[in-house]
Amino acid sequence: MQYYILFGPPGSGKGTQATRLAEKFGLTHISTGDLFRNEIGNNTPLGQKAQEYMSKGELVPDEITIGMLKNKIEHTSDTNGFILDGFPRTIPQAEALQALLGESSDEVTALISLKVPDDEIVKRIKIRAETSGRPDDADESIIQNRIDVYNEETAPVFSFYRERDKAFEVDGTGTIDEIFERLADLMSSVGVEQQ
Ligand code: AMP
Repeated sequence: MQYYILFGPPGSGKGTQATRLAEKFGLTHISTGDLFRNEIGNNTPLGQKAQEYMSKGELVPDEITIGMLKNKIEHTSDTNGFILDGFPRTIPQAEALQALLGESSDEVTALISLKVPDDEIVKRIKIRAETSGRPDDADESIIQNRIDVYNEETAPVFSFYRERDKAFEVDGTGTIDEIFERLADLMSSVGVEQQ
């Protein structure tokens, strides 16, 4: 089973690219942000809890996030593998993923980090806010908090995978097609058979 992690700051294009890559390579796309938004939309207890954190641009606690991710992976059958978007975002999440995959002697194939400068990120999120309907895209101080949380809590996840020779960086600037091409080339070279 293939497990790719699409990594990068908020607004780096993970969601857009993960959707396209999943289709190209026959992988299942899991976005923890989308799963939370779905729970919020259905007004579930999990959604209500997640919203407390998401509305401030903070991370939802690991315990909740890891449980939801495990549940999603375990209930997906008939797939070549997964492309994870927005998970793991902390070292404990990365450790939990290692443990989960280890149970079936699987491992992360590669973590691919999209590199985008901070000023470009803020610009992109503001444009996205016009159509996303996401409250956390619409407020400048929440955007800034999400970037700070990324730098403090999420960026170390890159080193976690680099130490295991699994981390790659891709230029996340340019057109959506150009970025897609770079990502697809890298994924082909690290191991997935094209569908
Ligand atoms: P995203 O759609 O990936 O930008 O995520 C939106 C929000 O959902 C984040 O700002 C967090 O509040 C929450 N979230 C998504 N994924 C995670 C995660 N792996 N760990 C903790 N919180 C998360």
